[in-house]
Amino acid sequence: TDLVPQIKNKLHGKVAIVTGGASGLGEVTARHFINHGARAVVIADVQDKKGQNVAASISPDRCTYIHCDVTDEDQVKSIVDSTVSLYGQLDIMFSNAGISTLSKQFVIDLDMSKFDKCFAVNVRGMAACVKHAARVMKEGGVKGSIICTASVMASRASPAGGTDYVMSKHAVLGLMRAASLQLAGDGIRVNSVSPGMVATPMICERFGAEKEVAMKKVEKFSRLEGVNTEKHVADAVAFLASDEAEFVTGHDLAVDGSFVYPQ
Ligand code: NAD
Repeated sequence: TDLVPQIKNKLHGKVAIVTGGASGLGEVTARHFINHGARAVVIADVQDKKGQNVAASISPDRCTYIHCDVTDEDQVKSIVDSTVSLYGQLDIMFSNAGISTLSKQFVIDLDMSKFDKCFAVNVRGMAACVKHAARVMKEGGVKGSIICTASVMASRASPAGGTDYVMSKHAVLGLMRAASLQLAGDGIRVNSVSPGMVATPMICERFGAEKEVAMKKVEKFSRLEGVNTEKHVADAVAFLASDEAEFVTGHDLAVDGSFVYPQ
């Protein structure tokens, strides 16, 4: 039917930036964007070697790595401007870079320097990415799509601590909602995805386990049977990035198989 090519190539011709694209959810989503027909994907990260290898493995022609620390607004501005000069416009910003505070970070013994680092990346960095993506989309008259990575922790807390992480992800929803209202008049959509527990390097490090072992552990965090994977998240992001979601804005899409704490 007519729908098949549309679904297969849902990002045909689009230009995207993926922050945190050297690893985990960002890496798989960048690959997914290219597989869905994106014209170009710029991976923005601080892990240069890894990012370059990932970009080359996805597509030497259509995927580029550019160093960008999202905590530095000048670098965010620069990567967004470079993308527009290289490819003419920016259609999709997947603002995904984030860090998890590995220490327990219970409120009673919060380490404030870790707290600041967490907020610098997860909140300030995220806001800078949304700000500059919106700026160039508006300037170029592009009805773009901005997707932020929130988390299941954006709407609940964890008995294991991570106070600053939980707070930072709640803030991502605030950013997404505020931006979606303010940018709707320009036809720019802003949404978020909230993954449950996916065995990316971030989660492997938290569990102190290899991917296979971590995958076994994450299986216990959803009511749906099976493992929450990077592809589940990438599919949701590609949907929100595409014209299939042309009337979806201000929405947080949970991709968690019905999250539950293991008993
Ligand atoms: P990951 O550690 O594999 O990937 C995160 C990437 O972000 C890394 O490549 C890292 O270098 C990059 N990054 C960190 N600080 C940066 C900075 N200052 N500037 C630019 N890039 C930076 O982890 P992941 O699981 O893929 O995490 C991606 C996002 O998903 C994060 O925002 C995370 O909080 C969120 N998330 C993950 C899960 C999960 O279960 N894996 C669940 C909910 C939300």
